Amino acid sequence: MQVFGLLGNPVEHSLSPPMHEAAYEALGLDARYVTFEPAPDAAADAVESAATLGIAGLNVTIPFKQDVLDAVDPDDVARRVGAVNTIDFSGATPKGYNTDVAGVERALTHHDVVIEGRDAVVVGAGGAGRGAAFALADAGASVHIANRTVERAESLAADVPGATAGGLDTLDRVAEADLLVNATSVGMEPDEDETPVPAEHLHPGLAVLDAVYSPIETRLLREAASAGATTVDGAWMLLFQGVEAFEQWTGRDAPVDAMNEALRAQLD
Ligand code: NAP
Repeated sequence: MQVFGLLGNPVEHSLSPPMHEAAYEALGLDARYVTFEPAPDAAADAVESAATLGIAGLNVTIPFKQDVLDAVDPDDVARRVGAVNTIDFSGATPKGYNTDVAGVERALTHHDVVIEGRDAVVVGAGGAGRGAAFALADAGASVHIANRTVERAESLAADVPGATAGGLDTLDRVAEADLLVNATSVGMEPDEDETPVPAEHLHPGLAVLDAVYSPIETRLLREAASAGATTVDGAWMLLFQGVEAFEQWTGRDAPVDAMNEALRAQLD
């Protein structure tokens, strides 16, 4: 039996175990997905222990995504983003990936949203904003990062090819943009009556991905749909980072529908 898992603290409410176990069941794989919650300063030790114990793969979440960088051999994307969310132990040294980046790109393309050559606004410059900005720039979009703390947006933009940065007063750029990603926590329960982007900037030519998945239908997505925009909820982003990790570990196409069903059953 192969053992996969999630390294984080806390991990109690993670949606990943049922999503991955649904994939194993759908494909008849002899595998389990379990959670590990080491002390906040024990990320590197945990990775070493996992390798010793013969664990096949780990996802990594808050607060360890940066800490494990030095404990693995990161691929180009993980190195540029500065965060690892997936570790593959099948080689001589643990290899680190960042499937959050592919998760953003695949969530959008799954909904037939074209990224290449488009103007994108990412609101937020934390972990999710970083992944989204790299995903969109790598897929050929021109990226503007708008963040409450302007310095944080500027620091991220300096790392992302061609990106520009500003404060929330630059959100009027959404009115001329093709793509919008909300990578802030604004709109998340229990503050679901809030929105990160004024409705007046939303328009029919826009595709909106909201990283927030609790609730699944945020005020931003509701107002975007009312404005005629294409909407993609945060569960798609969460799904496709898991799909990408599964495919990295197993070399097989993931059973996307089974994983999506398991994920949404929990969110419902
Ligand atoms: P983070 O690193 O803590 O960053 C939080 C971001 O939200 C920062 O840009 C912060 O701005 C901004 N922000 C917070 N409160 C704000 C407010 N009242 N007004 C304006 N901006 C505000 O968090 P994260 O890990 O990036 O997560 C952000 C959201 O994405 C969360 O809701 C999380 O659940 C979601 N997420 C979803 C997925 C998925 O797969 N769907 C994956 C990761 C995260 P400052 O820099 O000014 O503080």
